[in-house]
Amino acid sequence: MASNFIKVKCKKCGNVQTVFSHATREVVCLGCGAVLLEPTGGKAHLVYGEIVEVVDEPKEKGAGAKERNEEASEENGTRGASSE
Ligand SMILES: [Zn+2]
Repeated sequence: MASNFIKVKCKKCGNVQTVFSHATREVVCLGCGAVLLEPTGGKAHLVYGEIVEVVDEPKEKGAGAKERNEEASEENGTRGASSE
């Protein structure tokens, strides 16, 4: 599963900032300096932070050009090949 960004709201002052969900360092509130997240080696542990929104990786380019390559199930496979 890809790591992503989360919008975290400070429980102390209400400031909202976007942080990396797998932060490897303490993330402090830009408003009051409270520790929002602390690293755990995996997904960061929330201290004074509260997740308000999960943000996908901000590397989308050219919105609207999304095409899904659906692989149609092929029917010319080996059907009824049960050897009995
Ligand atoms: Zn704060």
